[in-house]
Amino acid sequence: MRGADVARLSPAPEDEAHAWSQLMQEGVWEGRVRRLTRDGDVRVVETRRHLRYDASGAPRDVVEYARAGNRPDGPVPDRLMAASWEIDVAPAAEILSLIAAPADGAQGSERDALYRRLVQTARIVEVNERTARLVGGNRGRALMAGQSVAAFWPVESRAILAELIVEALRDSNGGGCQRRLTSDGILRDPLVTVWRAGDDRPGRLFVTVNGAADDDRSYLFLRASEARYRKLIHYMPVALWQVDASHMGKIYAELRSRGVTDFERYLDDHPELVELAATSVPVTDVNRCAIELIGGAGVQDLIRPVGYLFTESPASLRRVMIGRFSGRRNYSEFMKVRTLDGRVLDVRFSVTYPEPLIELDTTIFSLEDVTERLRMETQLRQLQADFSHAARVSMLGELTSSIAHEVNQPLAAIMTNAETSLRWLARDEPDIGKVAQLTARIAAGARRADDIVRRIRGMAVKQAPEAVPLALNEVVQESLLFVRHEIETRAIRVATTYARGLPPIVGDRIQLQQVIVNLLINAVQAVEGLGEAEREILVATATDAAGGVVFTLRDSGPGIAPEHLDHIFDGFFTTKAQGMGIGLAICQSIVAAHGGEVSASNPSGGGAEFRVVLPRARPAA
Ligand code: ADP
Repeated sequence: MRGADVARLSPAPEDEAHAWSQLMQEGVWEGRVRRLTRDGDVRVVETRRHLRYDASGAPRDVVEYARAGNRPDGPVPDRLMAASWEIDVAPAAEILSLIAAPADGAQGSERDALYRRLVQTARIVEVNERTARLVGGNRGRALMAGQSVAAFWPVESRAILAELIVEALRDSNGGGCQRRLTSDGILRDPLVTVWRAGDDRPGRLFVTVNGAADDDRSYLFLRASEARYRKLIHYMPVALWQVDASHMGKIYAELRSRGVTDFERYLDDHPELVELAATSVPVTDVNRCAIELIGGAGVQDLIRPVGYLFTESPASLRRVMIGRFSGRRNYSEFMKVRTLDGRVLDVRFSVTYPEPLIELDTTIFSLEDVTERLRMETQLRQLQADFSHAARVSMLGELTSSIAHEVNQPLAAIMTNAETSLRWLARDEPDIGKVAQLTARIAAGARRADDIVRRIRGMAVKQAPEAVPLALNEVVQESLLFVRHEIETRAIRVATTYARGLPPIVGDRIQLQQVIVNLLINAVQAVEGLGEAEREILVATATDAAGGVVFTLRDSGPGIAPEHLDHIFDGFFTTKAQGMGIGLAICQSIVAAHGGEVSASNPSGGGAEFRVVLPRARPAA
């Protein structure tokens, strides 16, 4: 038909006039026309026509999609239209000349490479909607224009397209070349046709692909979106493992149907199930970051049963399985993992389970290396401990007179008792009963001195902070002992209110004593300048509405200047001539390390109030 007048196709050309004028006005037309076959028979054809324009906006040509048959189902459904392309191979002129070179030129793999380059270099001029939908992913037609054909043409048939391009360019009568491809799960038996656009437009070719798909989107669209998804996953800066645990899913379903509900118990009785998962659940894919984390030469080294991820933490695999059995969507924990070159890393391990009812049964593991973070945290904790120790030692320095007094008291008692008992012994008739009584007192005094020394030593020595259950009331009582002398010599009234039945807290006894002693020393300093009657410190423990355990300390001093309230917990903030300004900063870091909070305020009755809230111990702890 090439070159024939359109009118020659129609048994009644005048019938078409209306269709053509509408096409010229609106750019599209669809409807039913009659056509003459080569043999002169008349056929009814469903057609759809698109008018295309040149760069200046003038109508250039018409593309017609047609389907024979007087069908009741109306116009050609879009999905049955050919996917059409107009491409420009002019930029590939050099490649084409290499391909066209004498047979002894490009051969075999060299020729394949040239074909690949040809499709790579050929540009898309225009495509129709269907092409855009089939291979454009979610990009529109406009975005495809100007791009490489290879960016959109399915990779499996690129070589065939290249061959057809070469053939079509050689074909002297311009009739076009065709090739039927094998069904690729996208289109059924697609037929590719390539022909030259015309002598006036050298290098331009039309390509059509005919073939039906049940649903365009569900195939190439998905494939394109999967390709994008893969790329995304591949370059994601998180180590990812794709795992196919589908057969374990079936085992779980089977167990459930047999009435197993306590899966942990079941695993206790059947540890071989964990072993089965380790040795039989395959890793099906990993990304770049996973290879970087675990080591190995490439993807292949990591594509094996998941067991290698759990050699250091076998119990983690068990928990992963329990998570899936119990229908969780995801699960996460910190664990250790051994790299292929034998290093052990601390990682945060997360698993996303497949959603039930979704056909693809893929589980995703992600591993985040936290070795460095944990190391920093340990270092920070150490630094905090060192610093609070230093502050503690300096605090003891402030308390030397108190300490001397504390130790002296029992020593003085020991001395008196010893002297008295010597006197009793020196009598003509020594009173053994009296001496025994006095000796018992001496022993008690020595024990007390020993207690005091031990307590002070506890404050002075450097030791790793503990996390043990503690009764806050006890900690407060012990802290008060440290400053008892300071309080007594200054005639400060101290009122204590200890809440009963206070839940335990978890922490380090010495560090918490340090906090309270610090606050007490500040309070003593705040009230010591007042008249004797006004020196007062109130100490109380309580629980708050949120279940936290609270220690409050209020003094009758001048309070905190409002402009200082925001700064008193800063390191080296002080308003005292001899102050260091580290006491409250240390208090805050200790309390924070215990998961609590410390705050200061000026209560309405005057003075300053410090409030420490600590979380109560969780039952399991
Ligand atoms: P220092 O006692 O060496 O100054 P701190 O960190 O213990 O260091 O206290 C910082 C500042 O907070 C003090 O200088 C003072 O201005 C203020 N402050 C602390 N406790 C009290 C208090 N009980 N009453 C008033 N001001 C206080």
